[in-house]
Amino acid sequence: MRGFGMHAINDVGWIEKERPSCGPLDAIIRPTIVAPCSSDTHMSHGGSGPKTDLILGHEAVGIVDEVGESVHKIKVGDYVAVPCVTPDWTELGVQNFHSFSHDTGMFGSFKFLGVKDGVMAEYFHVNMADANLSIIPEGVSPEAALMTVDMMSTGFHGAELCEIKAGDTVVVIGIGPVGLMAIAGAALFGAGRIIAVGTRPKAMEVATAFGASEFISYKEGPVLDQVMARTGGKGPHKVIIAGGDANTFTEAVTMARPGGIISNINYFDVRDTLGFPALNWGLGMADKDIRGSFCPGGAERINRLLDMIKYGRIDPTLMISHKFEGFDKLPEAFDLMDKKAPDLIKPVVYLT
Ligand code: NDP
Ligand code: ZN
Repeated sequence: MRGFGMHAINDVGWIEKERPSCGPLDAIIRPTIVAPCSSDTHMSHGGSGPKTDLILGHEAVGIVDEVGESVHKIKVGDYVAVPCVTPDWTELGVQNFHSFSHDTGMFGSFKFLGVKDGVMAEYFHVNMADANLSIIPEGVSPEAALMTVDMMSTGFHGAELCEIKAGDTVVVIGIGPVGLMAIAGAALFGAGRIIAVGTRPKAMEVATAFGASEFISYKEGPVLDQVMARTGGKGPHKVIIAGGDANTFTEAVTMARPGGIISNINYFDVRDTLGFPALNWGLGMADKDIRGSFCPGGAERINRLLDMIKYGRIDPTLMISHKFEGFDKLPEAFDLMDKKAPDLIKPVVYLT
């Protein structure tokens, strides 16, 4: 079968592989719509270290083509949303509080790209189909369902991690699709003022629709100074990092007010070192809680997000800025994601 992926760092293209085989608990999916992600492009440039001949992509919806003999709920022909994180629920790592993402060790539950080929292919494999696949309910379009599998799950997680309380002032750094979903999550969970950091006009328009109250440009001076000026020197209650670099992390820790929570969902680079002067963290005693986490996966998580769409709480398709028709368009969509056209938020590719 044919797939699109990385031959080596900075070398992407078509890759021929065998159709994956299906274990007793697993499923083989024929993807119908996929979405390239900044994590795919980041990985193609070596952001997670060297990888060779790896099919990329981890955001897909599709039709179940085959199921293993021990799969009872999911059936061939079901139209499913596939979480980008698919834990092996029998691994003891998932029994640790809040560690579903790390079943066999760090990031163990991120199977696509991590331990096997991704979804930008004619077929792909999903482990533990009954526990990891969500049937798309009536009233939810496949495109909307596609937005749950990573963007909504990750962005909402940023808001969950920092325990948004009614009336919180929240800074969301980054208004790419992940930051946009963090804004939407923060607004739904009860934030008061939401200060968003980013510059692209199309993304700012969508951020406003999801609940951003105002914007800061990181191109017009340090974000830290601008946030402190706007909050009367107090800083926000909560900071969600969904973009930026190692310096962004330092600024986020520094700007949060004592008792605040900094939640990181950004993908720093394998070459980065994160840190901050001790005083910015109250010499260790400022009750500033620093958290960093990965996209929650599994069927229950995605079912809940699908319900948020079904019952009219959110329309994540506002983020879809580009649509491509046909399998052969995968390289073009990937390139667009890589180059980050100014009007780009999220591209989707209809494979069939
Ligand atoms: P995008 O690249 O689309 O968006 C990044 C945003 O950050 C943009 O709004 C950009 O501003 C802003 N930005 C860039 N540089 C700076 C800076 N120096 N200071 C402040 N803001 C800056 O990314 P995505 O939304 O797709 O993803 C965000 C991050 O989340 C990525 O690192 C991605 O890999 C990661 N991710 C993490 C997951 C997890 O499970 N934890 C899952 C999925 C993604 P502008 O508007 O000017 O472009
Ligand atoms: Zn993704």
